[in-house]
Amino acid sequence: MDLPLDKFLGACLAHDVARVALLRSPVEAFGVDRAVVLVRQLGVTVTSYSAVGYWSNGHDPDGEAWTLSDNLRRLDDAVAIGARLVVLAAGPLDLIGKDLAAARRRVAAGIAELWPHAAQRGLRLALEPLHPMFCPHRSVVTSLGLALELVESAPAEWVGVAVDSYHVWWDPALDALLAQAGPRIFAVHVNDFTPPVPPDRQRRGLMGEGCIDLRGFRNGVEAAGYSGPYEVEVQNEVLSALPPEEMVARVVSSYRDFQSLV
Ligand code: ZN
Repeated sequence: MDLPLDKFLGACLAHDVARVALLRSPVEAFGVDRAVVLVRQLGVTVTSYSAVGYWSNGHDPDGEAWTLSDNLRRLDDAVAIGARLVVLAAGPLDLIGKDLAAARRRVAAGIAELWPHAAQRGLRLALEPLHPMFCPHRSVVTSLGLALELVESAPAEWVGVAVDSYHVWWDPALDALLAQAGPRIFAVHVNDFTPPVPPDRQRRGLMGEGCIDLRGFRNGVEAAGYSGPYEVEVQNEVLSALPPEEMVARVVSSYRDFQSLV
């Protein structure tokens, strides 16, 4: 959502939500230095910062060239804002070369290069696989199994995965992969899959609105040993059109329903 950071955090605190996962774009739009001051003043805990990476084609989502120094600067931003976990975005397929295997090798190489810098800063890195429909435009890492392969050679203390219900719910091997991931599950995102998918693919429902068995998802995650926070990651035109406090109220209500699933 395009809400300015101060308005977003104000709406969260109005509903006693003091732990938030922050995206890079609203933080950078607000100004990183101002954001650092604001987060401290408000006493907000930043559970994760998203995202760095973009190794598949070396460009960020706006099409700007993206290098190691860009990633390192964002790791420093994450530290400044108080995050201890940074989500990795693999980046999309190069639609001219169409070499998916090479793109995935670049992601593995990028992680191998970046994690020591993150560890030096006390930051853990979580590679997030996206639903396969995002492969052409957002991520060549299209399943939890592939994400686990790509982080395998890095130390489990520092490099893991972010598991998002929207992206992994369809996978017939999901429970086995969650169990395999075990302590590498660093973050869990919750939301729901609400067909039809619009042309821009930018619609996610609140928990309970769609077709995901969220009770089963949560059971699988917790059976794998995960005890960290659940980050609600929703975006849709209905929520975006609401006043910020009402939007957060709906998220909180949906989260409470999700919490009551056992
Ligand atoms: Zn996510």
